[in-house]
Amino acid sequence: MEQSRTQKHTVVLVPLPLQGHMTPMLQLGSILYSKGFSIVVAHSELRPPNPLNHPEFIFHLLSDGLSGYQASIDNLKHLVLAMNSNCRAPMQDYMVQLMEDQKLQGYPVSCIIYDSYLCFVDSVATHLKIPSIVLRPNMAAYMLSRRYICQLQAENRIPFPESRLLDPVPELHPLRFKDLPYPITNEIPEWIMDFFASSVNIRSSVAIILNTTDCLEHSTLSRLQQRYKVPCFPIAPLHKLGAAATSTSFLEEDQSCIAWLEKQPPNSVLYVSLGSLARVNEQELTETAWGLANSGIPFIWVLRSDSKDGSQLEDHFPEGVKALLRERGLIVKWAPQKKVLAHSAVGGFWSHCGWNSTIESICEGVPMICRPHFADQSSNARYLTYEWKVGLEIENVLDRGSIEKSIRRLMVDAEGKEMRQRMSVMKDKLEAGLQKGGSSYESLNDLTEFISQLTS
Ligand code: UDP
Repeated sequence: MEQSRTQKHTVVLVPLPLQGHMTPMLQLGSILYSKGFSIVVAHSELRPPNPLNHPEFIFHLLSDGLSGYQASIDNLKHLVLAMNSNCRAPMQDYMVQLMEDQKLQGYPVSCIIYDSYLCFVDSVATHLKIPSIVLRPNMAAYMLSRRYICQLQAENRIPFPESRLLDPVPELHPLRFKDLPYPITNEIPEWIMDFFASSVNIRSSVAIILNTTDCLEHSTLSRLQQRYKVPCFPIAPLHKLGAAATSTSFLEEDQSCIAWLEKQPPNSVLYVSLGSLARVNEQELTETAWGLANSGIPFIWVLRSDSKDGSQLEDHFPEGVKALLRERGLIVKWAPQKKVLAHSAVGGFWSHCGWNSTIESICEGVPMICRPHFADQSSNARYLTYEWKVGLEIENVLDRGSIEKSIRRLMVDAEGKEMRQRMSVMKDKLEAGLQKGGSSYESLNDLTEFISQLTS
């Protein structure tokens, strides 16, 4: 593709084809493009990003044999292993060619920025002597909590006693042992431990980019910086710094949400979404349907067709609740989430607490109902509910009574209003960080400078 003469150096991005990982990588690409870098995205055959959404990028497909593969939480192991074993050779061949081409055209390759799961990139980068930078799509606290699990394992402290799960984890305030990224009361499968160990190892990377910000995690970032001797660049929210309107979704966004929201009063709607991977069982689905319907609060509910085994989920609901749901809310398969959260009609977000969803909610000042499922979601929920006090958690069994009560606490009660006020303060802080002199603004400038100096 044509490159604009304003672009100087080339940055190669290598994302993992999961929504919560792809989105921050593409957002970072848009930001770096706006700073004058030429952007190349080397991606899996699985769920390739849509080039029409990023005409300014060059896309290159790595043959990894994953075309048509189902990306789900059950397949994560296979996905990562397949990419790491199949992509090394094609990536190396491509990089050799690209480096020659880009040099000839006057856009030398500065570095490769890659998802922390994709260790094959480090091996290619080391072999070709190209600097590499790792991108972490989560909170900084998550990286430290994964390190901590590795430490517990090395000290033979897993299985960990159930009676101590509510104890604070030393040096990881506000996290408790139960908030760590994997249940520790039983043996942890070896492949999970390998993933943890691999993802906290930055290998030969010359820097770490984190999808977080100093105003959310000041002390954790200082600790992280002490542990990793390379520069750390916390920059967030990424979508507020780059091409905000560009969709990074794999699934088609149902824009009818916005027209529907236009008809609702301010702060009246609860948005419900579990992100791209979390699933619920049939009973939880039915209880959620009844809880939502009985709360009387208007809602948008994202029900991915793979949210539960099988499809056409609404068909499983009893007739009584189906009619109530239709009357009180909107069910969609995938929403334009950032636009939905930014709409003034939305007053609350019931979320699985994926980090992208969390930060998107914070930067629109929307308080949350937290129902974490796995990975970083419990620690994110802990920050939201305990540290920042901008969310409430539905714990234990999901039943219609507790759902209805939680929704009303958030959307109607004084408690929810206070959470909204605190969220609004957090939103202001995030916005301040994006202005000149603010932490994310300055960190982005430092990163830009750092990458420019990598080019020989
Ligand atoms: N998302 C969306 N529409 C939806 C549901 C989710 O655009 O209907 C986006 C959301 O804005 C976020 C991403 O999908 O950027 C989900 O990432 P997150 O880290 O929250 O969770 P994950 O999917 O990784 O569990």
